[in-house]
Amino acid sequence: MNAPAFPTGTILGYPRIGRRRELKHAVEAFWAGRIDAAELEARAAELRAATRERLVVLGLGRDDSSIPESFSSYDQVLDAALTVGAVPERFRRLQDEHGAVDLAGTFTIARGEGDDAPLEMTKWFDTNYHYLVPEIGPDTPFTLHAERLLAEFAEAKAAGYLTRPVIVGPVTFLLLSKAADGAPAGFRPLDRLDDLVPVYVALLAELCTAGVEWVQLDEPGLVSESIDEPRERILEAIGVAYDLLGAADHRPSVFVASPYGGLDDALPALAATPVEAIGLDLVRGDLPQHLDPATAESLAAKTLVAGVIDGHNIWRGDLAHAFDRIEALRSLSGDVSVSTSTSLLHVPHDVADERELDGRLVSWLAFADQKVAQVATLERGLVAGRETIQHELDAASAALADRAGAPGVRVAGVRDRLAALADRDFTRAAYDERVAAQATLELPELPTTTIGSFPQTGEIRRARARLLKGELTDAAYRELMHEEIARVIRLQEDLGLDVLVHGEPERNDMVQYFAELLDGFAVTQHGWVQSYGSRCTRPSILWGDVSRPAPMTVDWSTYAQSLTDKPVKGMLTGPVTILAWSFVRDDQPLGDTARQVALALRDEIADLEAAGIRIIQVDEPALRELLPLKRADQPAYLDWSVDSFRLATGGAAPATQVHTHLCYSEFGAVIDAIRNLDADVTSIEAARSRMEVVDDLATSGFDHGIGPGVYDIHSPRVPSAAEVQALLERAVAEIPASRLWVNPDCGLKTRGYDETVASLGNIIEATRAVRATL
Ligand code: GLN
Ligand code: ZN
Repeated sequence: MNAPAFPTGTILGYPRIGRRRELKHAVEAFWAGRIDAAELEARAAELRAATRERLVVLGLGRDDSSIPESFSSYDQVLDAALTVGAVPERFRRLQDEHGAVDLAGTFTIARGEGDDAPLEMTKWFDTNYHYLVPEIGPDTPFTLHAERLLAEFAEAKAAGYLTRPVIVGPVTFLLLSKAADGAPAGFRPLDRLDDLVPVYVALLAELCTAGVEWVQLDEPGLVSESIDEPRERILEAIGVAYDLLGAADHRPSVFVASPYGGLDDALPALAATPVEAIGLDLVRGDLPQHLDPATAESLAAKTLVAGVIDGHNIWRGDLAHAFDRIEALRSLSGDVSVSTSTSLLHVPHDVADERELDGRLVSWLAFADQKVAQVATLERGLVAGRETIQHELDAASAALADRAGAPGVRVAGVRDRLAALADRDFTRAAYDERVAAQATLELPELPTTTIGSFPQTGEIRRARARLLKGELTDAAYRELMHEEIARVIRLQEDLGLDVLVHGEPERNDMVQYFAELLDGFAVTQHGWVQSYGSRCTRPSILWGDVSRPAPMTVDWSTYAQSLTDKPVKGMLTGPVTILAWSFVRDDQPLGDTARQVALALRDEIADLEAAGIRIIQVDEPALRELLPLKRADQPAYLDWSVDSFRLATGGAAPATQVHTHLCYSEFGAVIDAIRNLDADVTSIEAARSRMEVVDDLATSGFDHGIGPGVYDIHSPRVPSAAEVQALLERAVAEIPASRLWVNPDCGLKTRGYDETVASLGNIIEATRAVRATL
């Protein structure tokens, strides 16, 4: 085959939500019935057109196929499932006579309808993006529906662009799928590879006919070692899939991208197939080394796409070093292109939109548009020689040097404190001693509590918006929040809960709230990134040494405590979660940054204690999600993440009861870490899995307080008292009642008051019934 050359510069994907979240607004307007499907399609087409034009302005697009078509109205994994016709049985009613699903149907699969649960959602590798999990059974039919990909390609072509369609590759697609309900034990979606690949072959044929020259198949599944499938099977699957795809005689050239880490042993497997281009993540992964002669020979005949611009963070980075890596890659193949390490999906659009950020900080940053420009610069250097971009390389180096020396980046006081830490700072009194000291709390058996937040009403949100606009004074805002806290305390007392919370009305978000109060953080205005579907988050930027200029939560908590004789839990977000949901400085190990955050929290805990707060919860819902994809990196991560929690809580007196909360029930690799947190009480999600986690905990030797959630707060459904009682009976059978707590799965902020009150009432009723049997 005489392949057209791969573009010298490209990106793996671009944010699709829009600079002002236009896609979110359009999709939500469609859901609300305010616009019809045609209007939504028109707005999506406008966004795609704007993206193409923007990429050209930024310097991409001098070659055909350099502009990826990475748009999705909801999620790229769902799109892939629909492209291959893998629709779960309960949604087949949405298919037309050819098996295609329209836009409305796509959203129904994503969001569920009536009793038909949506596809499960889970995290996309080690990012904060969440994808929908396809359900594949032994009989799931695979049929090609290339209409969407073809239409987007044709749309671009009509506008004068030859784009490169992007789709999740077949191996990753199956690795990310789960076995459909009713599949026989032992069935794995990957068992269906031989049935799936022919659909991809047919897809490539259709794309080829339409004039596509290059297609991008995303295979991050090859990079992860956290996927539950034997590695040998994955390596074998690569050969099977790409030999077949490569052998097809009517197809575009194939570019396989492997973001989020090094390919390692998957590289020889992929190199042995006929694919024309391989993308390497050279930010997370190393340059391939010690290649066997056959692999070296195969690679020399392919295009190697150097992912040297970090798609996963917002720093301007070391451009000269990036160029060095491209040049180093040239020793493997004469044909090297430059790209981002991952799709730019994970970063906001444009730092130029941040008018309120400090100009000096801005000069250290690169959002998606700046990263595209960096790719264009490196491409120029690749084509015309390093000296032609020396000025840009020097400018980036100067920005780095400026950043290293800027005030606030390294603060002596913070560093001295860290340097002086000793082992004892990470260790509390023995658990038994703590239990004895905490008896003064006088809690009943099976104490009832909640995870922290109560419903965030429209009134609360409006008050915050008015405060921001200056329509409300600080004092008036505080007054409103106090009224809300008083309401929440009264409600909990009336319901009969044992450990109360203030309800977190003052928090827009559990990380941003703290980021706004800590030194070392900056908050953006437009820095939204897609979390899932139409949901976006606006991560804060952790750029400097972290310290706490003043107490952050003490006033709210003490006000709440002043209203009741029951203990009120102080409520903090843990260091790992603060890091996981921010853009974090890349100039020092994450563990060092985590310790700085931990020290700030440690001071907050001391202040809460001094103010009479006797129970303090430090939430770590992100502990599992930052776990590195490569097994070799996991022990070090688990060390520093556990350490930072222990540093935050290590100063608490034995009589202070420390709680933590985690939002998931699949512990696997982190179960030891959770035990090592040494929290007095750990609340976890368990209602959806019907307490299965209780068995895992019982067998893992977990012997501190534990609160498996009995109320699934992800759904508006109110669990009956009988249902909750059954869950509690199951828990009591496995866990000594003296260590068991009763609580919902997570915070209540997304729920309405009616459901909340009814559900908590049933929880109390069920708890009383179970207590009577003890
Ligand atoms: N305390 C937080 C809340 O209740 C915990 C949120 C979370 O676990 N994600 O909202
Ligand atoms: Zn939670």
